[in-house]
Amino acid sequence: MADIAIIGGGAAGACVFGELLRQDIARVHWVTGDHAVPGLGVAYATTSDHHLLNVRAAGMGLFSGADGAFLQFASERLDGVSGSDFLPRGLFGQFIEAQVRECTDAALQRGRQVEIHGDDAVQVEPLRSGGYAVRLARGTLVKADAVVLAMGSLSPRPLKTVSREALVSGAYVLDPWHMATPPGQAPRRVLVIGTGLTAVDTLMSAASRWPDAELVALSRHGCFPFEHTVLPLPPYRGQAALDAALLASDRPLAMLRQLRRAIEASPDADWRSIVDGIRPLNPRLWRRMDMARRRQFMRHLRWLWEAARHRLAPASAQAIARLRQDGRLQVQAARVLKVDGHGPLEVTVRDRATQRVHALVADRVVQATGLDTAVAYTEHPLLSRLLRDGLAMADALQLGVAAHPGGQLLNAQGEPQQGLYAIGSLLRGNLWECSAMPEIRAAARQLATRLAASSGTEGATELRALEVQR
Ligand SMILES: Cc1cc2nc3c(=O)[nH]c(=O)nc-3n(C[C@H](O)[C@H](O)[C@H](O)COP(=O)(O)OP(=O)(O)OC[C@H]3O[C@@H](n4cnc5c(N)ncnc54)[C@H](O)[C@@H]3O)c2cc1C
Repeated sequence: MADIAIIGGGAAGACVFGELLRQDIARVHWVTGDHAVPGLGVAYATTSDHHLLNVRAAGMGLFSGADGAFLQFASERLDGVSGSDFLPRGLFGQFIEAQVRECTDAALQRGRQVEIHGDDAVQVEPLRSGGYAVRLARGTLVKADAVVLAMGSLSPRPLKTVSREALVSGAYVLDPWHMATPPGQAPRRVLVIGTGLTAVDTLMSAASRWPDAELVALSRHGCFPFEHTVLPLPPYRGQAALDAALLASDRPLAMLRQLRRAIEASPDADWRSIVDGIRPLNPRLWRRMDMARRRQFMRHLRWLWEAARHRLAPASAQAIARLRQDGRLQVQAARVLKVDGHGPLEVTVRDRATQRVHALVADRVVQATGLDTAVAYTEHPLLSRLLRDGLAMADALQLGVAAHPGGQLLNAQGEPQQGLYAIGSLLRGNLWECSAMPEIRAAARQLATRLAASSGTEGATELRALEVQR
């Protein structure tokens, strides 16, 4: 049996933690970061009821094979909940907390050793005798035979087009989850850069916090995510044939054509069931493309794929539609060329349709451009250290770290780094879609099983060596 350390206090860390506690692992260390309730991470720490899950209640859960557990938890707390509802993310946060408590208590009763460290890991150092020493910010050293990095996405970096003056003005908000009310007057105009799921949450928070503020959202295509249907859809009947056709190709445009053909040829099927049906296939399709084709996908198709695949809960879509109808929200398809000033800020943009350059003035500009996983440019102390020490390397597209599909990291020489794994969004370069709960919990189960099996082998070998000595 081995000691395993998990670094990262979000939902992915909680999944791996719970799965490992069910396995035959001697001691599990969970390094959850400073000031965080273990398990909530960025997505589920919100207390706003406007921030909804974008997966139906029946599809959300923390552990593989226990999908109904969240629905039951929610039904015990709210009236009239159904599996097809999109519930508040904060409720899922409460569910994670309860699940973590429950599996920790059960493990302690079974005599497992569990240590939760409310601190940041700053270094992972290989030991000559095998395994790693994980150094925490306040000086603790944790010894582990294997380490799992579950650190989610990185802190957002400012867009290159934002001036230093704007950044220090206090009017430019780099982290949309910490959008404090400015001192003095409420903002008259708030401009959100981005139109994805994070931008939608930001707009809804801004709309309720500053009811008189005018809102502007802009992105290159000016396209919000599409909307989920109110009720779940039946599975697409032609799925097997579509899967085979997609797997026969390694070009993103050809794959898109196959999808379009399937949608056009099936007027009785909702396009969303066709897009959702290929979800289990996505990592394989991604891996079939070479780097040039992955780049092509990122440049030309990513925005459309993201909007179609990561959809909005109907209530969120309606709230955005209402803001637009009421004239409170304007949406622009434009590229940001410059953000300057010290408040209010001047945002210079090039309109996509007309190519005309014009300036917008806003009291607050919020950067809500989505996940950042470009590890090569990060100032994250642990990741930058791992790269410097040659234990990890960035993947070619700067989407995360280079790794095997099962999550084992590749070191600076491109070789598998024994006992060092990642889960969640750090693996986007390898798997593309790996950061939502359904994918995370499947990956956590596989990883825990693998770690337990390898630690079992090491344990067995050690035991045999001891027996020989006797
Ligand atoms: C706003 C939002 C909404 C989402 N909604 C959904 C949804 O409805 N359904 C769904 O399936 N998915 C959703 N997702 C996807 C989401 O990414 C996953 O569900 C999940 O929250 C990812 O968790 P994570 O642990 O990988 O990352 P994170 O939540 O980012 O957690 C990582 C944690 O690690 C900590 N950390 C970082 N560095 C260190 C260190 N050195 N030492 C210790 N700790 C460290 C961080 O502080 C953070 O707490 C959403 C994501 C976001 C951002």
